Amino acid sequence: MSGQKDYPQLARERLQTVCDRIGAAASRAGRTADDVTLVAVTKKQPLASIESIFEAGQTAFGENRVQEAVAKIDAFPREAEWHFIGHLQRNKAKAIVGRVALIHSVDSVRLIRELEKQAARLDIVQRVLIELNVTGEEAKTGAEPEELDTLIKGLADAPHLKAQGLMTMAPYNTDPEAARPPFARLREILSNIPASQAFDPRHLSMGMSGDFEVAIEEGATLVRIGTVLMGERPGD
Ligand SMILES: *Cc1c(COP(=O)(O)O)cnc(C)c1O
Repeated sequence: MSGQKDYPQLARERLQTVCDRIGAAASRAGRTADDVTLVAVTKKQPLASIESIFEAGQTAFGENRVQEAVAKIDAFPREAEWHFIGHLQRNKAKAIVGRVALIHSVDSVRLIRELEKQAARLDIVQRVLIELNVTGEEAKTGAEPEELDTLIKGLADAPHLKAQGLMTMAPYNTDPEAARPPFARLREILSNIPASQAFDPRHLSMGMSGDFEVAIEEGATLVRIGTVLMGERPGD
């Protein structure tokens, strides 16, 4: 532990390190750091930590639980952009629609219908991504790739949703290279989706602390990074 350091300085250093690693991975893939948005995953982190990383220059934050997300959004009246990255139950959609810039985790037509209803009620357009489970792992959330056509048809009937791409989570593995095949698969699936009114195939949300460089090499435009940026989660 760097107990001598004040937290804002530690936050600045961690942010710099992560941004340097993002830039290096992007350039290995012939891309630039500007092609990649860093979403700081702040789940389970106290507001003081979010404040520190915000002061260091980070403005996009990701939360995976509805109650915690809403509480933090309410308690953090700054020029921040919030992302919802966790599994979203239909009965909680109402609390999230209109409060976040992007919902990464749309995985069923029934959820699409509920999100559409809530966005229409507010008369807004909510940006979303479809979450796919590309490894067939049972414990994982996300729709199966075979369901994608049905989901896109559902989006065609949802004028208040703007679908902009795909999200996935790679299975946990200490070897980042293990995430390359699923990330490559997601990129390939995205590249086969024709652009339409219902679906604009521009974003790939993939990569976490252990595998974000591989994700960027495979085309990620959004990386969701918690631990290496914010430190270990209290209580984990
Ligand atoms: C927690 C979480 C992350 C970040 O995990 P780290 O390994 O701490 O970077 C990314 N995406 C989702 C969906 C998460 O729940």
